[in-house]
Amino acid sequence: MMVENDALGLPVVDALDLPDPVSRPLQPGALMRTRDGDWHRLPRFFFEVDSWQTALTTQLTAHFGLWELMDVDLHEAASLRMFPRYVPCAVTSLAAALEVFRLEVGATVRIAANGGYRSPTHRGSRSGSPHCWGTAANIYAIGGEPLDTEEQIGRYAAVARRLLPFGWVRPYGHDAGHADDHLHIDLGYATMVPNGISEEDDEADQARRLDDRSSGTSGVRP
Ligand SMILES: [Zn+2]
Repeated sequence: MMVENDALGLPVVDALDLPDPVSRPLQPGALMRTRDGDWHRLPRFFFEVDSWQTALTTQLTAHFGLWELMDVDLHEAASLRMFPRYVPCAVTSLAAALEVFRLEVGATVRIAANGGYRSPTHRGSRSGSPHCWGTAANIYAIGGEPLDTEEQIGRYAAVARRLLPFGWVRPYGHDAGHADDHLHIDLGYATMVPNGISEEDDEADQARRLDDRSSGTSGVRP
């Protein structure tokens, strides 16, 4: 299944249909455990990006290009660093949230390498971070100033909390779960299923649907 996103001109793919060397490390639809012991289902629908040139020239919003939110290094599996590359569709929601933040602070907002989307098999992704959903960003500088003090990070964290009530900001600190050299903003475990995409196309779903029909409960959902 593949549909084209009209606004971005990027194909949207069901990662369950991708070749194994890509699908396996992306783990589409699998449950991932967080550091707190909660489980969340990983995204299944991704934008397909055919080249770095496409990443560089695709603007998600006025101030954020797709490349900024998919820049990874050797911590990511080799098969996921080759093009075409795949980014969860929810990255558009992240960019929209960052744009609101950018407009308020009125200065350039820089995202760190490995600080946008990371696959669940990325070596920095073991704790089930929203980065694996494409809904988190690590901001390392604003207006050319690095974010590395409690005062700066706290000030911009307060702006993010005020503007993005659905978001979460990592507290300042040096221990696990804290940050002392960037501002982590995330939207939680949001996934996006674009219009024109069907979520029920694998064999298990087909069998379940047939079961529902034979027991007369099809379409009856409270
Ligand atoms: Zn982060």
